[in-house]
Amino acid sequence: MKILVAVKRVIDFNVKPRVKLDGSGVDLANVKMSMNPFDEIAVEEAIRLKEKGVATEIVAVSIGPAKAQETLRTALAMGADRAILVQTDEEVEPLAVAKILAKIAQEEQPQMIILGKQAIDDDNNATGQMLAALLGWPQGTFASKVEAANDNVTVTREVDGGLETVKLQLPAVVTTDLRLNEPRYASLPNIMKAKSKPLATKSPGDYGVDVARRLETIKVVEPAKRQAGIKVGSVDELVEKLKGMGIAK
Ligand code: AMP
Repeated sequence: MKILVAVKRVIDFNVKPRVKLDGSGVDLANVKMSMNPFDEIAVEEAIRLKEKGVATEIVAVSIGPAKAQETLRTALAMGADRAILVQTDEEVEPLAVAKILAKIAQEEQPQMIILGKQAIDDDNNATGQMLAALLGWPQGTFASKVEAANDNVTVTREVDGGLETVKLQLPAVVTTDLRLNEPRYASLPNIMKAKSKPLATKSPGDYGVDVARRLETIKVVEPAKRQAGIKVGSVDELVEKLKGMGIAK
């Protein structure tokens, strides 16, 4: 079984984003960028399926700037077999990403496509769902457990207040939730080996997809600053304060 994994280069999750002075977006100048954490989980899951003998080949795909090569090399160092970079400097919206991934899926004929449930930069949580719709494939989103067999995959999904288990006919789209697995770190020898793994560079035009933005960002603002807290001297004082705020009776 061939597995396609989508990996996005995003602002590192440890970095506190700064909004540009003109409010047009987040300042990415000199900011550490990394693989979207949910996509690391997607790569890890694909590798585990390969280690179990279910998957035979893992192809990592990223749509983004030339520097997204680094993200793909990380996926290769973790254990993906080859990579495809669809290079563009545009900020690509989920629908365009889904259209490109759908075209790649038609070419590559994978049995499963694993994506993150959301990219932590724009929090869209849309690409996997759109991709499944475009391909007409079943989808198992927010996966916390994935068990693949020959012609189907059983996905346990994290839903409000519990878990839902669905069985999907392959080929299928799966999106990862946080508790699916703990991604491995790439070892130094594997980082070296990844340098010689195949990485093809394409453009959105190669897939006939127009990546022009359909949405206009009106304004980006920093979250409201939290007001400083106060220290109370006793439980009685705390209760009085809470009463004053209408929180306690
Ligand atoms: P989103 O719908 O933007 O929250 O992204 C959901 C998932 O789609 C991500 O976790 C990635 O797996 C995939 N994805 C989104 N944008 C890209 C991109 N530019 N390149 C590769 N994968 C992407």
